[in-house]
Amino acid sequence: MPADEDRFLINTDMNSFTKPWPRPPGTFDIQKVDPHSSARTGVLWTAHGPIETPAFMPVGTQATVKCLEPRDLTAAGAQVILSNTYHLLVRPGLEIIEACGGLHRFMGWDGPILTDSGGFQVFSLSGLRKIRDTGVEFQSHIDGRALFIGPVEAMAAQKTLGSDIAMCFDECPPYPCSAQSACQAVDKTLLWAGLCANQARASGQLVFGIVQGGEFRELRERCARGLTAIGFDGYAVGGVSVGEPEPVLLQEVEDGVRLLPVDRPRYVMGLGDMWQMAEAVAHGVDLFDCVIPTRHARNGSAFTAHGFYPVKAGAAKCDTRPVEEGCGCYCCQTFSRAYVRHLLNVNEILGVRLLTLHNVHRYLETLREMRGAIAVGAFGDWRRACAARLRVAASVADAQAVNAG
Ligand SMILES: [Zn+2]
Repeated sequence: MPADEDRFLINTDMNSFTKPWPRPPGTFDIQKVDPHSSARTGVLWTAHGPIETPAFMPVGTQATVKCLEPRDLTAAGAQVILSNTYHLLVRPGLEIIEACGGLHRFMGWDGPILTDSGGFQVFSLSGLRKIRDTGVEFQSHIDGRALFIGPVEAMAAQKTLGSDIAMCFDECPPYPCSAQSACQAVDKTLLWAGLCANQARASGQLVFGIVQGGEFRELRERCARGLTAIGFDGYAVGGVSVGEPEPVLLQEVEDGVRLLPVDRPRYVMGLGDMWQMAEAVAHGVDLFDCVIPTRHARNGSAFTAHGFYPVKAGAAKCDTRPVEEGCGCYCCQTFSRAYVRHLLNVNEILGVRLLTLHNVHRYLETLREMRGAIAVGAFGDWRRACAARLRVAASVADAQAVNAG
């Protein structure tokens, strides 16, 4: 897509937007395309407001971004969060959330919410699966009771939750998997995507299709073509960051994205290494989610513009500097590194909360930096100067663990 200045449709001062939103849900205004890569900035409009892209979605698995209140998320600049249909289905149950007025009201978050379909968790967490054309029989990972979810059930659940973006129910194969298994997963994913596209939706709800295909380029491309033929509001690349080596992961992203429509938002599911996100942005990816910033906070580690370090370590014992110098978050504006370390080491919950505040702020700040760099045509410079030092250097085991969360 050529850089097209005429597509500067929207003033990006997000505070200037109020309900009723000036653009209908599903509108994706691409604002600037990087001249040297496929990176772009845009605004995706949803029923609960606009999302500036590229965007990072903090993960609220159990209808809460762990340790944070909705006003913390707003203060950090979060414009969209993710929640997990599977977990909410198991506990507290959809009927309770429905009785409480839907997921937004239940959790007190009035901004956009993306819900996954439950597919990933069904295939990664639950026991004794039986895959049928209509869905998957499985056992709850909490109490072992028998459950069934397929495309019809997943879309009905997401309609009940009332999320702004619903994901198709897909089959997510493990890594490694054979070409035959990956091919069968693509067949199921496409069959189910066709059903998902035709289910009833919540008011203004968008539906995204998910590209599967493992590490096999032809399968990724076939899946992308098939989904595009069905036609979705946006598209995701799934089945990545499930334990594969980084070069394979980045190739899967590139293969998954290449044939998707350029005028629709693209989302890589579960990717949270900042350097890998920057590489994906260069391939034209617009949305990310990961539990890395919140999970690593609970492990006592901080992300900064210069990398990743353990606040719990002895080096911070008498350190009067904030967790990150120059950071504008409440934690860094108020407390010393030594204090946060102390809280973590005596298991005071405030320590985890402060570090979560900081890490989520840092992630959102990094995405703001990326958007700013793309907007002024300097994304290549930013990528060279900044992205490399943001590597999480997460081990394969880490990547598998965070995805399971
Ligand atoms: Zn901070």
